[in-house]
Amino acid sequence: MFIKIVFRMNTEVLFKLNKDFEGKSPEEILAFFVRKHKGKITLANSLGAEDQVLTHMLVAIDPTVPIFTLDTGRMFPETYDLIEETNKRYKIQIRIMFPDRERVEEMVNTRGLNLFYQSVESRKLCCHIRKIEPLKRALKGMEMWITGLRREQSVTRLATGFVEWDEGNGLLKLNPLADWTNDQVWDYIRKHNIPYHALHDQGFPSIGCQPCTRAVKDGEDIRSGRWWWEQPESKECGLHNKPNK
Ligand code: SF4
Repeated sequence: MFIKIVFRMNTEVLFKLNKDFEGKSPEEILAFFVRKHKGKITLANSLGAEDQVLTHMLVAIDPTVPIFTLDTGRMFPETYDLIEETNKRYKIQIRIMFPDRERVEEMVNTRGLNLFYQSVESRKLCCHIRKIEPLKRALKGMEMWITGLRREQSVTRLATGFVEWDEGNGLLKLNPLADWTNDQVWDYIRKHNIPYHALHDQGFPSIGCQPCTRAVKDGEDIRSGRWWWEQPESKECGLHNKPNK
């Protein structure tokens, strides 16, 4: 009973927060929560366009907020180049999180290097070991993490709120660009000359690991190049599973 009441209150608080932030700019939303969760807030930057926008905004608000990225070991070379370029441009040091060596060795030696093509289950195992577990370590001790999720990105993200409760990781998730369009992201990048991933100019609107990402054709869904052999409903790596709102 008590748990139910607490949960209902949290849901109401989140609903009100999301209402309050409707119509506010991402910078205003970021600045509010950076102040509120000072020292306990972090940005996950996967080097996609949205995360680069957020890095630019965040550094202007408070350059001491930690930024991390997950190096799965299967990234595009261009991703590493962009990490270096971003560090240099903003005078920051993006923290690199690696997967557990023993778990990766055991996985690839028992299931194969490219196990992700075998089944959704194998793909999710690879994402779990290379992404989810390092993410949990990166979020340890934090109250809130910031992501570049947008509602427009996929069917799995249509209900994305500005503030959500991330049940899987046990902390709040902030999505300041939730209501932005793709055009808004790119207008902002051009206006501020923000460094962006070289593959965005080669037909890759969404970029993840090299073997699981391919270019898309004009008019195709933004995330259709990710795990293209799977159905749209299963296309999340587990970093952004549907939140408990
Ligand atoms: Fe593994 Fe592909 Fe997931 Fe990267 S995106 S962690 S290579 S399954």
